[in-house]
Amino acid sequence: MMIVDILSSVGRFIEFQLTGQSDFRLMVPFDGVRTVNTELEGKLQLDDVKKFLWNEFSIKTRWPVLLEVKAPPPAGWKAGFYHSEGNLGRYQVNKMGSEKSHQVTVRPNLPTPIFRAILGHELVHAFQTENQLLGNNRALREGMARWVEYHFLKNDQPKEAAKLLQMKHFTFGKAVNTIVSYEMEHGRQKTLQWLKDMSLQDNVGG
Ligand SMILES: [Zn+2]
Repeated sequence: MMIVDILSSVGRFIEFQLTGQSDFRLMVPFDGVRTVNTELEGKLQLDDVKKFLWNEFSIKTRWPVLLEVKAPPPAGWKAGFYHSEGNLGRYQVNKMGSEKSHQVTVRPNLPTPIFRAILGHELVHAFQTENQLLGNNRALREGMARWVEYHFLKNDQPKEAAKLLQMKHFTFGKAVNTIVSYEMEHGRQKTLQWLKDMSLQDNVGG
């Protein structure tokens, strides 16, 4: 039995328990035409996106991730700075005393590969926050998130991936170009190491 079939069966069972309806079509990973609309669908993607980040980028987060599938609030004074993800996704750290968690919001109704790419982008910010990575380097911080987003899109959504490389301004993650070039020349492990080293320089310098 394929994992996708298992997920579908489990999803249909849960849905039936919740609503008594069986005509619900569960969105499954790796299906380009469906969209992600509910917390349940988001949660299934979250687990899978986390696995991808760990397997492909050695990126893992320890604090709990609170995922909401809803339109992110408009970026205002509270946000503090412009979000390159715009109205698609948002990341925020929550601190309650010594308890810390990641709050991630991703817009509903996105095609599954786009949802996964934005979620991956936000989880990179979560990873950066936990490890104090590139805290003083906004260009590379955003570029790194775009770089991972790029790899999520590359196979399923090559046109969307290509768009990321045409970014004109550093606040949108223009540095993704630099990182993709670096990776082509040196490989992924060295690229991750380079980004970590840049953080150390930042911390010493400022
Ligand atoms: Zn971002």
